[in-house]
Amino acid sequence: MKAIVCVKQVPDTSGNVAVKENGQLDRASMAAITNPDDLNALEAALKLKDETGCEVVVVSMGPPPAEGMLRELLARGADRAVLISAREFGGSDTFATSQIIAAGVNKIGVEKGDVVFCGRQAIDGDTAQVGPQIAEKLGIPQVSYVTDIQKDGDKLTLKRQLEDGFMVIEVETPCLLTCIKELNEPRYMNIPDIWCAYDKPLEVFNFETLKDDPLIELDTIGLKGSPTNVWKSFTPPQKGAGTMLEGVDVAEQLAARLAAKHLI
Ligand SMILES: Cc1cc2nc3c(=O)[nH]c(=O)nc-3n(C[C@H](O)[C@H](O)[C@H](O)COP(=O)(O)OP(=O)(O)OC[C@H]3O[C@@H](n4cnc5c(N)ncnc54)[C@H](O)[C@@H]3O)c2cc1C
Repeated sequence: MKAIVCVKQVPDTSGNVAVKENGQLDRASMAAITNPDDLNALEAALKLKDETGCEVVVVSMGPPPAEGMLRELLARGADRAVLISAREFGGSDTFATSQIIAAGVNKIGVEKGDVVFCGRQAIDGDTAQVGPQIAEKLGIPQVSYVTDIQKDGDKLTLKRQLEDGFMVIEVETPCLLTCIKELNEPRYMNIPDIWCAYDKPLEVFNFETLKDDPLIELDTIGLKGSPTNVWKSFTPPQKGAGTMLEGVDVAEQLAARLAAKHLI
């Protein structure tokens, strides 16, 4: 049994977001971190390992420096890592990214009992499309926005967050779950795992490794094959400071202001 965790290395967007003259994100000038939701996905996988003794495999598609992040995740308790990296994969949009990652996961192998974990969304691309698209490509059930996981044999009972409530779903394995931060609190690294992080296996899947996988269509990967293109990224102009209304009659004041602008 395996828990496969898809992890993206992202620029730390909690500070200033740098944009190049051509409108693209200036990733080089920002610190690279593990996508926050993906740490919740890893924690869910580690909990499954605590319960069942399953193997935890972390997978990332990205340039070679993403190896550093994968080593950190091995130090956090994952058993092995796979870096999907090739020039041919660069510039892929979410559709292309998903089929390449699906092919990587397919190569690792997905069997009865296995669970593929993703974060809900990446803090840079922010589309939340990759997890569901990987499941679609692999032909396995998917549940998004997961806030609780209970294992019952080969089935999982999941709590899924909705805008105004929760949904409880039973799903057969193998399946793919997208995790949100309410699911758990990621654990700290421990000394034994830090100690052996560099002894754990880290494999690179390049173009040669994946090009013949049945889930990959070679004309729809990379920059050229991607059906969407990012033309421009920009920071929206800051909104005005706003006005604080005070006094016991704020509702009347607000109504009068809206009426003056013919909004009500
Ligand atoms: C040089 C460059 C060029 C690009 N060009 C385009 C373009 O032309 N058109 C376009 O639409 N996009 C483009 N992108 C963006 C890129 O396609 C997305 O960053 C990527 O597909 C992931 O989408 P997302 O960030 O919205 O992830 P989300 O769908 O928000 O991520 C959800 C979850 O999926 C998993 N995941 C996502 N990405 C990865 C990954 N790489 N490895 C492992 N797991 C992952 C994680 O678990 C994550 O939490 C480009 C990116 C780069 C770096």
